Amino acid sequence: VRYRSDGVRAMMESALTARDRVGVQDFVLLENYTSEAAFIENLRKRFKENLIYTYIGSVLVSVNPYKDLEIYTKNHMERYRGVNFYEVSPHIYAVADNSYRSMRTEGKDQCILISGESGAGKTEASKKILQYYAVTCPASEQVQTVKDRLLQSNPVLEAFGNAKTLRNDNSSRFGKYMDIQFDFKGAPVGGHIINYLLEKSRVVHQNHGERNFHIFYQLIEGGEEDLLRHLGLERNPQQYQYLIKGNCPKVSSINDRSDWKVVRKALTVIGFSENEVEELLNIIASVLHLGNVQYGGEDSNACITSDIQIKYLARLLGVNVSVLTEALTHKKIIAKGEELMSPLNLEQASSARDALAKAVYGRTFTWLVNKINASLTYTSDSSKNYSVIGLLDIYGFEVFQHNSFEQFCINYCNEKLQQLFIELTLKSEQDEYEAEGITWEPVQYFNNKIICDLVEEKFKGIISILDEECLRPGDASDLTFLEKLEDTVGGHAHFVTHKLADAKTRKVMGRDEFRLLHYAGEVNYNVNGFLDKNNDLLFRNLKEVMCMSENKILTQCFNREELSDKKRPDTAATQFKASLAKLMEILMSKEPSYVRCIKPNDSKQSGRFDEVLIRHQVKYLGLMENLRVRRAGFAYRRRYEVFLQRYKSLCPGTWPNWDGKLSDGVSTLVKHLGYKPEEYKMGRSKIFIRFPKTLFATEDALET
Ligand code: ATP
Ligand code: MG
Repeated sequence: VRYRSDGVRAMMESALTARDRVGVQDFVLLENYTSEAAFIENLRKRFKENLIYTYIGSVLVSVNPYKDLEIYTKNHMERYRGVNFYEVSPHIYAVADNSYRSMRTEGKDQCILISGESGAGKTEASKKILQYYAVTCPASEQVQTVKDRLLQSNPVLEAFGNAKTLRNDNSSRFGKYMDIQFDFKGAPVGGHIINYLLEKSRVVHQNHGERNFHIFYQLIEGGEEDLLRHLGLERNPQQYQYLIKGNCPKVSSINDRSDWKVVRKALTVIGFSENEVEELLNIIASVLHLGNVQYGGEDSNACITSDIQIKYLARLLGVNVSVLTEALTHKKIIAKGEELMSPLNLEQASSARDALAKAVYGRTFTWLVNKINASLTYTSDSSKNYSVIGLLDIYGFEVFQHNSFEQFCINYCNEKLQQLFIELTLKSEQDEYEAEGITWEPVQYFNNKIICDLVEEKFKGIISILDEECLRPGDASDLTFLEKLEDTVGGHAHFVTHKLADAKTRKVMGRDEFRLLHYAGEVNYNVNGFLDKNNDLLFRNLKEVMCMSENKILTQCFNREELSDKKRPDTAATQFKASLAKLMEILMSKEPSYVRCIKPNDSKQSGRFDEVLIRHQVKYLGLMENLRVRRAGFAYRRRYEVFLQRYKSLCPGTWPNWDGKLSDGVSTLVKHLGYKPEEYKMGRSKIFIRFPKTLFATEDALET
């Protein structure tokens, strides 16, 4: 800016130094916005200063600090309440507040999509948002109950759905979408939760250094003496086969005993009766007993050798001992219209037992979600009219050494979300330009629909082929599935197998793997177990036993209709595909905001910024692409009144007050500041500024 003396320049430099130190709070203001190095440098600077939040336009990027920062106080909540998004430093509360106000003023349902890899801070972010609403939204006594229940649903779902993994001591092992419903006064009056794909395999097996779901340890460590006696449990997790696989009974960051108290109380707040809690805990204990059921006898004819276990088990499940024993050792087959019991061999019997444990736990989890939903059901006697803010906390892109069916589903989910993201961001950019009467210049981007189709297309997508193999009687196996993939989608640009790969790729691929070229990178999937996991079968006679249970929760989880149903239930992948399609519909009908979470290092340490790891995440999260789209046209845009209010002091013509049309005021102002015509455009209600440096010069002028 032209009218500066040398003294002023010195002051301006000190302002610049501040920016050098803390970086820019919106990536769109990066001069070199296509440079990944500049992007990461900006993150690093801010992280060092404990500034964990940065925007890309309206997207919030968050880096897990791995320490408690003093930025979530009630004062902070107040500071963000009703304030313009850009006038305060980036914060999760700003996103929460912005969604809330858009919902209130525009009457449009909102959703906040939180993504990032395990340990990046998604669940913490969603809890912060919920707390923000609980504290800042208006409340009556009745609303207070809803708020309490909304908040208390977290410890309950985390107890049953989270576990310690190598990546995160409190890792969510399910995806979660939660609607918060607000009445016409803007008070939260209800909620609804949808859960996705609980990692049931964890019930029966954990990798070294990992644990089963928290609730098992909480019950064993925290449960009262009487309770444990009633459940036949010992106060030692190492006694239970289903808890010892990871050899990790204690975690330093977790206090199972006090967590137990929190969960117990939460169950009461949510409205579980004593009876329901008892039945729920009977089920949890029975899973542990089930794990200790031992088989012996001849290999081809398994029998149960642990008498006491099975008695406890039968009592807790509320079923007959001999019927249960038979169901755990035999399989019912129907031959020529006659029912026969055919003995299981040792391996089959243990896998039937594990299948029962997984089914019981998985279905109980779903029951729990339904129960919470019932307690959150909107019950105002006035009209059923409410607005919604949805929160999505769902697993990010996963690439491990060994990737299986679960990673396949998770990464497919991320492809779908990426597609939605691209469509909606581009669309909202385009809409804004149109609304403001500014010409939209199309942006080039990679459309990942081609990968979604590869996975989900009817008849010829990977899921269809998998289902086909699952249904095919005879010699179908994981390897025939792989062969069929090669025959069907072998020519696809995003699909490779060992056989089809070039020499270089072949070196890093097993013969039992296929590779997908995801938008975020390549992943090799090992086909071993795909068919079983997709089938997710539970022998019919085990289902029958569960239907006969006296435990009311179990009879809700296993109903007779399922037995009479001639049609096979949908496979796991097909169910997941359908639930994702529904999720997309839900999200499409709302106005989205995004929170992209980044994990700074693999050792859960504060202050460590692992650049390689972060670069991967910036790529997986598609942040550079996001920035490119956002910057394709104009870096910065502000409503006229906001712009004028902030900068009017820089121009004698607009100071102290501008009485005329707002756009004329802004014109006068920017002309005085020497903006060149190619540097900005005037829309209907906003000024669009093409380059960050223009804005910086204006900001600096303000500081002098
Ligand atoms: P997963 O996919 O495994 O569920 P996640 O993304 O949900 O992972 P979180 O459980 O939210 O990860 O975060 C992991 C841990 O990181 C938390 O238990 C907490 O210790 C720390 N953490 C995350 N966000 C913050 C924050 N904003 N402030 C302080 N600590 C945080
Ligand atoms: Mg989580």
